[in-house]
Amino acid sequence: MDEKLRIESRLAQIGSQEDPATGAVNFPIYQSTAFRHPRLGQSTGFDYIRTKNPTRSVLETVAAELESGDAGFACSSGMAALQTVFALFGQGDHLVVSLDLYGGTYRLLERILSRFGISASYVDTNDLEALEAARTPGTKAVFVETPTNPLMMITDIRAVCSWAKEHNLLTIVDNTLLTPFFQRPLELGADIVVHSATKYLGGHNDVLAGLIMTKGSELSAEMAVLHNSIGAVLGPSDSYQLMRGMKTLALRMERHESNALALARFLQDHPAIAEVFHPGLPEHPGFEIQNSQSSGNTGIFSFKVKDAAYIEPVLRHIRLIAFAESLGGVESLMTYPAVQTHADIPVEIRDAVGVDDRLLRFSVGIEHAEDLINDLGNALEAARAELEK
Ligand SMILES: *Cc1c(COP(=O)(O)O)cnc(C)c1O
Repeated sequence: MDEKLRIESRLAQIGSQEDPATGAVNFPIYQSTAFRHPRLGQSTGFDYIRTKNPTRSVLETVAAELESGDAGFACSSGMAALQTVFALFGQGDHLVVSLDLYGGTYRLLERILSRFGISASYVDTNDLEALEAARTPGTKAVFVETPTNPLMMITDIRAVCSWAKEHNLLTIVDNTLLTPFFQRPLELGADIVVHSATKYLGGHNDVLAGLIMTKGSELSAEMAVLHNSIGAVLGPSDSYQLMRGMKTLALRMERHESNALALARFLQDHPAIAEVFHPGLPEHPGFEIQNSQSSGNTGIFSFKVKDAAYIEPVLRHIRLIAFAESLGGVESLMTYPAVQTHADIPVEIRDAVGVDDRLLRFSVGIEHAEDLINDLGNALEAARAELEK
């Protein structure tokens, strides 16, 4: 397809010009595990589903294009994508990792990869001195989430990449929260981008998927071997479902962004709220870096209530907003990280970072902002009334 198309057009047209034989506007689901060979030594390009499937290939091609990568790999979940990427490393290798990290990634590193002799140090990846202090002779890569989940800390991707290049380390960025619509780390110098496509890319809380995008032919070839060998690949139906969701990514992200900013401003002025963590607010310490490397803000932010006693009644009284454990879908979800997504991170580490029992994470959906403000406002008011009794 025309390379000069803007991202909105590319997204809307995913798969729509890939089937010239029939002209199908939606690329079909090739529910086939095997592919006939015309004759000995010949292949249509497809042999066996784990290695390559036509539906998954359309997704992988567009995924690479969206992130300005050389190759894309669709996996059965975000965790499967992370496991596949971490399989680049082995006995004695060490990773420097963002301190405020997705809980599942921390668990994978500490419970599973540690068995294979891979270790990790957790640092504020926006602090170059901390990065340098954590580097050991075995360090092979730096792994960054920006913004972090749930505390929305921002890392300067360009600065980390240039530090990493100086020391011959790979830079891996989990870009789940911003998506390539708002931020493209490979353009800023990163080598690998990972996504939980279950979140914004799918966008409708109805498909589990992960993506890996790589830069460079050697790394892309190595990732293809890992992807096929580990086999945590995405099936054709889920590939279709993911592309279906991605077609509206641009529209959704714009609404997620404006809704989240409206809700963050509402909470900033609310008497029951102690602190709001949203990198789109000028008071946020990462505001300028965020603006310099991204074209917009995610729909996720977090906030602390003044008193932990508010948490239980607020979660009981929200009605439009669901108390549930995910993010990035069209429906608004509220999560309590200390007992849900981040429960596997030891309490000392969580407290040191600030993921404490007063923190709520809000994945703001695409409903009308006023309805969300009313719902949360009512829940806070009902909680206050109960606590004063
Ligand atoms: C959800 C999530 C993951 C894990 O992805 P799954 O699709 O749930 O396996 C990884 N990183 C981040 C930032 C996430 O939000």
